[in-house]
Amino acid sequence: MSNPEFLSLNHRVVPFAEARIHVLTPAFKYGASVFEGLRGYWNPQQNQMFLFRVHEHLQRLQAGMRLLRFADGVGNDRLLQSLVDLLEANKFRETVHIRMLAFLDGDGEIGASGPVGVAIAALARPLSPQGQIGIKLGVSSWRRMNDSSMPPRLKTTANYVNSRLAALEARHNGFDNALILNGQGKVSEAPTACFFMVRHGRLATPSVTSDILESITRATIVELASERLGLRVEERDIDRTELYDCDEAFICGTGPEIIPVTHVDRLPVGNGQPGAITRQIQDLYFAVVAGSVPDYARWLTPAFAAARS
Ligand code: PMP
Repeated sequence: MSNPEFLSLNHRVVPFAEARIHVLTPAFKYGASVFEGLRGYWNPQQNQMFLFRVHEHLQRLQAGMRLLRFADGVGNDRLLQSLVDLLEANKFRETVHIRMLAFLDGDGEIGASGPVGVAIAALARPLSPQGQIGIKLGVSSWRRMNDSSMPPRLKTTANYVNSRLAALEARHNGFDNALILNGQGKVSEAPTACFFMVRHGRLATPSVTSDILESITRATIVELASERLGLRVEERDIDRTELYDCDEAFICGTGPEIIPVTHVDRLPVGNGQPGAITRQIQDLYFAVVAGSVPDYARWLTPAFAAARS
């Protein structure tokens, strides 16, 4: 896939090759950065791009900047305007995945709190075939870091070292991806996605105090499954052995959307095929992000002031 013509750096739209930062930034030296992954869904009927739950994404980015004690914070209005400027410059007419990164710029030391830089990239991202066929997960030998060391709740870039170790190990061992247990041996999440299973007719997902990212897709599914599908949803500890005795499982996130899990540690989940409830949740999720469910239109923000011509 080709790169977009423009990226956004420090609120300016710049050609792709010019979006550079210095090697001595605290972001590079100490991992002092926090980011968001969000999606803009292209709606061909309305010639408009709809940002999905953008306000929740911006709030999580703000919480990350607060955690890292970035001094001169950047307001949501400015962040949103810079994003819209970028989308307009690239003239997108397709669904995009957006990465918005707030980082410590300059050449400060570990205690620096500014200046705060912002980088935004929007990349076309077609549907993953994994959403249809599902994936095989392996329980990682790496444990998830926890709230008293590297808080997984927020999307600091440095947290992804833990995710990367687990993902690389899983691939090395022949799995598509990893499932990571927390320090208590309970299921936390996949390297870049949250986890759900169906067991005894109920939908279960680790609670937000299980050392997971406080995922916006997870919250969306919890709400949709209970309110629209009438499912009983449990947010609770999940034991490893439940993984081997559940009927369905899937992972979810803004980028992957909803991907069925067909095997865990080489044991089939249910009959080893994507499950019926998982399919129902996928269908509903895709209808909601496409703007086809009026009750949830409030989660969609048009990116452009006027429809594209
Ligand atoms: N967990 C982790 C570790 C992630 O990186 C992501 C992707 N942001 C998720 C869960 C899903 O979060 P969200 O639904 O907010 O994209």
